[in-house]
Amino acid sequence: MRLLLIEDSKRLASLIRDGLQDQGFAVDWCETLNEVKLLRQLVQYDLLLLDLGLPDGDGLSLVRSMRRREDTTPILIITAHGELDDRVVGLDAGADDYLCKPFQLPELVSRCRALLRRPGASLSTVLSAGNVLFDSSTRALLVSGNLVDATAREINLLEHLLRRTGQVVPRPVLENSLYSMENAVTPNALEASVSRLRKRLKMAAANVQIRTVHGVGYVLFEPK
Ligand code: CA
Repeated sequence: MRLLLIEDSKRLASLIRDGLQDQGFAVDWCETLNEVKLLRQLVQYDLLLLDLGLPDGDGLSLVRSMRRREDTTPILIITAHGELDDRVVGLDAGADDYLCKPFQLPELVSRCRALLRRPGASLSTVLSAGNVLFDSSTRALLVSGNLVDATAREINLLEHLLRRTGQVVPRPVLENSLYSMENAVTPNALEASVSRLRKRLKMAAANVQIRTVHGVGYVLFEPK
């Protein structure tokens, strides 16, 4: 899942970004509304984390203009203003959720996950194929009921494949979601991640298969 963090406090931004990256999110960061415009022309984000007081304007103006254009990208407002008025204004403007600074990172992570699940059935909490089961809210991966340890990136990759079991997931979709601009994708990075995930699943005696569709992407198959 690829997130855009819009926050002009460098200290806070790097804390948030590191925390979310540890949880497997790909996070791009910018400080101004102007940069948001540029980045959103290049990248389709799954979620925006938006500070309201920015150097070149009010974050709420971004929320309003996106919703006017019927852009439904989830928006979580993170701001120092904690008064009830701000909350109402933010949600009225079309934001999906609101978190007041200071906040605990686990709280932010769980709010992000809740928003990413919201759009509908394809984002259901528990995904499964064969003897593999993945809970997208707790990020637990189970094979035949046994908990399997995997890196956040491997889990993220598996989640994408499980959401489209039996269908080819194009490489750019996976790359876009797994890597932020900062961790630019090297040509073999995706292959390396897939290969680690395959090994991990094999070790756990998973009965699903991840096949490479050359030049296109990857597809996860259930056992027949
Ligand atoms: Ca600010």
